Amino acid sequence: MRRRVIAGNWKMFKTQSETRAFFSAFAPLVGSSTNCDIVIAPPFTAIPAAVEVAKGTNIAISGQDVFWEKDGAFTGEISANMLVEAGCRYVIIGHSERRQFFGETDETVAKKTKAALAAGLTPIVCLGELLSHREAGQTHHICKSQFTGGVAALTADEFSRILIAYEPVWAIGTGRTATPEIASDVHRFLRQCAAERFSAAHASALRILYGGSVKPDNIQGLMAQEELDGALVGGASLDAKSFATIVSFA
Ligand code: PEP
Repeated sequence: MRRRVIAGNWKMFKTQSETRAFFSAFAPLVGSSTNCDIVIAPPFTAIPAAVEVAKGTNIAISGQDVFWEKDGAFTGEISANMLVEAGCRYVIIGHSERRQFFGETDETVAKKTKAALAAGLTPIVCLGELLSHREAGQTHHICKSQFTGGVAALTADEFSRILIAYEPVWAIGTGRTATPEIASDVHRFLRQCAAERFSAAHASALRILYGGSVKPDNIQGLMAQEELDGALVGGASLDAKSFATIVSFA
């Protein structure tokens, strides 16, 4: 049985004081949740505040991105060791917004994932198709090429330590969620890619989260699917009550 994960991606939202206020409301609401792992990815500047207020709770903190070098003249970048030292246990890699606006490629996703693993972080590696791909019937093809160009470069041991988030780009921040059946189909397909590249055991142990307009009113239907091992939540993770409701259905 794969343990579910509910992760919140705050993107470029919340200052340090807003982060503290969120945790005072959220932590008590999920304090007795033992059904899933709970992760929150604040912006870099709010990570120390989040780590401090999450201490002693069941909530782990994540970065939203990482650079693959250990240190050096890379203005604006943050290394995996810096995230670890700040108290992060996870890091999101290859989010579609990074692919779309900041030049992230499958190759940089692979480099970042290896660096994150070497530092002891759990990477949440995102992939997913654009609306034009889905409409052209290319969803499996695109997901396979992102898988092959990205996480397929890992060793089997490295692969066993990552999470994958399937995030159809047309569903992110649009209010348009993939149906539970659409999500399930792609999760099954990705598991097949993992079996072909690594092994059946790696495929069945792999945790695949769904992301794309997950809300309190659609989480139940999504989590009813055995293929879905949790969710990566953007907008609805910014509100303590709505994110706690999502956690309660995992
Ligand atoms: C995301 O940012 O990964 C995401 C899925 O956003 P939203 O839930 O707002 O669609």
